[in-house]
Amino acid sequence: MKKIAVVAHDSKKQVLLNWIEEHFDALKNHTFIATGTTGTLIKERFADIEIEIKLSGPLGGDQQIGSLIATGEIDMLIFFTDPMTAMPHDVDVKALTRLAVVYNVPTASNRATADYLVTSPHFNDDYQQQDNDYSDYLARFEEDKNL
Ligand code: PGA
Repeated sequence: MKKIAVVAHDSKKQVLLNWIEEHFDALKNHTFIATGTTGTLIKERFADIEIEIKLSGPLGGDQQIGSLIATGEIDMLIFFTDPMTAMPHDVDVKALTRLAVVYNVPTASNRATADYLVTSPHFNDDYQQQDNDYSDYLARFEEDKNL
């Protein structure tokens, strides 16, 4: 069972609901975590889905999800962003997508990529994320101490 974080900007919320509906059979046995408005809409529409709802994105929800990525609690990020509208919380959006890169979390920022992810053979196996070893980074000052 995977923990899937889902976030959609306002103009993409319907796209996300359509994606869940189309892939409901594949998604229904996984658990979800979402920003406030996105999660509330999902809960209203799909009563059977297990979903944890965080704060609304601009009020800190993106950062709450980012912190769960940093602690290894998210298996996949579906974040349908609106490329045509300036966001007051643009830095939060960047922070969330950056952490998904840092921790090698499969991420979809549009519907086509989300379709690919949910139909991947890895979606239902116990795929282990790799390349998350930052020990060199953490140890970078160790050598300096010995100078
Ligand atoms: P929302 O937040 O689900 O509360 O609308 C989404 C976002 O991060 O913009």
